[in-house]
Amino acid sequence: MSRTIEVPEYALHEEVRVDPAQTALVVVDMQNDFVREGGSLRVPDAEATIPAISGLLGLARAHGMRVVYSQDTHRDGDPEWRIWPPHCREGSWGWQIVDALAPADGETVLRKVRYDAFYGTPLDHLLRVWGIDTLVICGTLANICVHYTAASAALRWYDVVIPRDAISALDPFDLESSLRQTVFLFAGRVTTATGVRTRLSHDSPRRVDLLISARRPVRDGP
Ligand code: ZN
Repeated sequence: MSRTIEVPEYALHEEVRVDPAQTALVVVDMQNDFVREGGSLRVPDAEATIPAISGLLGLARAHGMRVVYSQDTHRDGDPEWRIWPPHCREGSWGWQIVDALAPADGETVLRKVRYDAFYGTPLDHLLRVWGIDTLVICGTLANICVHYTAASAALRWYDVVIPRDAISALDPFDLESSLRQTVFLFAGRVTTATGVRTRLSHDSPRRVDLLISARRPVRDGP
């Protein structure tokens, strides 16, 4: 039985401005097994998101934004392989992040074992140490690891931004229903990769100067 339903409307922001000092770009599972021809769990639309994700990486790197990659990681006997065919076997070609989106020096790669990049990883700790309050999340799959990572972030009160041309799913329904949940359920903002822009940082040196001068003792008279 098939049924036609309309996707409820959700807001698509032309532009979302983020503070680069308080924002991290999270690139979810852009690994050969999901993205490349010959991958064991290939998402046909994932390869086409590489330019959009490259653009986001360019923005992040140009503005000193934190970049975190998640790398789906499994070994023999992993219970997830009862749900999905074996994929992202640690150390294999399929496990590697696609060359086109290779992490740069100093960027963080977290090996994750479940859909949620917070589960069993130091992601929350790192974000708090870095003073991050906003996550721009891209990668694959939209309704699985991107979605559960975004939901997990929102449950920890991070602001979530999803560029919809930088995510991919096996079925358009899955992608749309995930974005609808992101907006409706945890007030995430959906935009496009080029819609993500930076704004002046709250932590600019000028503000620090003002704070320091405000703390100086006031001298009496000349
Ligand atoms: Zn997996």
